[in-house]
Amino acid sequence: MNHVAVVENQKLQQEAPPRRLSRPQDYQQISLFKDVNPLEWEDWHWQLKHRIRAKDELSGVLKLTPEEEEGIKKASGRLSMAITPYWLTLIDPEDAACPLRRQAVPTISENIVGPHEMADPCAEDRDSPAPHLVHRYPDRVLLLATEHCAMYCRHCTRRRMVGEHEASNSADRFDAAIEYIKANRKIRDVLISGGDPFIMEDEEIENLLAKVRSISHVEFLRIGTRVPVTLPQRITEKLANMLKKYAPIWVSIHFNHPKEITKRCKAACDMLAEAGLPLGSQTVLLKGINDRPYIMKKLMHELLQIRVRPYYIYQCDPVKGTQHFRTPVAVGINIIEKLRGHTSGYAVPVYVIDGPGGGGKIPVGPNYILSQAKGKYVLRNYKGKIYTYLE
Ligand SMILES: *Cc1c(COP(=O)(O)O)cnc(C)c1O
Ligand code: SF4
Repeated sequence: MNHVAVVENQKLQQEAPPRRLSRPQDYQQISLFKDVNPLEWEDWHWQLKHRIRAKDELSGVLKLTPEEEEGIKKASGRLSMAITPYWLTLIDPEDAACPLRRQAVPTISENIVGPHEMADPCAEDRDSPAPHLVHRYPDRVLLLATEHCAMYCRHCTRRRMVGEHEASNSADRFDAAIEYIKANRKIRDVLISGGDPFIMEDEEIENLLAKVRSISHVEFLRIGTRVPVTLPQRITEKLANMLKKYAPIWVSIHFNHPKEITKRCKAACDMLAEAGLPLGSQTVLLKGINDRPYIMKKLMHELLQIRVRPYYIYQCDPVKGTQHFRTPVAVGINIIEKLRGHTSGYAVPVYVIDGPGGGGKIPVGPNYILSQAKGKYVLRNYKGKIYTYLE
């Protein structure tokens, strides 16, 4: 984008005054949970078992809109609704536009397939050399360890496979993937994701980590999860101590909105950080949820305060039924424009588009090179001032 276009774009995206956000409710004030004791509340298995999965349960807590009622009905069987009791306390019961509500409660819009939308836009199934494995880049692989999550995000990229259906959990289901990694000495980085790997039991996670760690050419292990945000009770001392044994493990956490960063979430992230696991964030750019620069800036600042380094902002993939969440690409570029230079470099993630058809993550951002000729770069800085660099 040239300088004029950037300025035009800045005019287009004036900062709106911050909207007042509701505070988390005390769970005992929600009628469904009034008799729950704090020990149960802190038990992640209890949280999972008591997820809100039915319309009637939810309508006792939130006043559902007709779009939501219809959406919940149609979502059963596919990426079904499952909301942890913890997440429910963060939802504003009065506001159908609440950013946390919109990520968790299906609406009828999910049944509309927009132009260019696909079941598997990143062609993960095509680039799968063994069950549960995606191999796209030369030196790293993605291992999809489970199809289950604590909560199902309405914008999920893997909605083709993720949900509450029965899935194999036999101990040998990763054997072919492990053999493939063993046989490919170029693979130095294994990203364990899903679904959400932290939804598995400690022993099952440990089995998998031990197998991957036993491969001598694997240098770098990471886990992609949303559990610290949707079910922070899952992050226990026992889990953190187990993970520590397989260090270095980096953890990428899916965060979308500053309201997700509660005291409870911070405690979960602290436990991981104190076990020596470096933390990064991944954020999906979502219309009406985090598409304003001031919301993203607040999110990035709060992440740094809980020791999470912003890593990626993703353009929302063209997955079937997600059109209502997608923004123009210019919105994402403008967000980066409003961050870079204006705040700590550590608070600036990379905005990427996952190339449809399997192109991998492609960075898109403001253009700071105005012209480039032999030995001469004309650059602009974050304020739009022009500088010449001579080689
Ligand atoms: C995102 C992704 C990775 C990891 O990419 P990084 O840019 O290294 O974080 C690896 N494999 C696949 C298939 C991916 O989608
Ligand atoms: S946690 Fe991740 S995999 Fe699970 S539903 Fe949300 S986006 Fe999809």
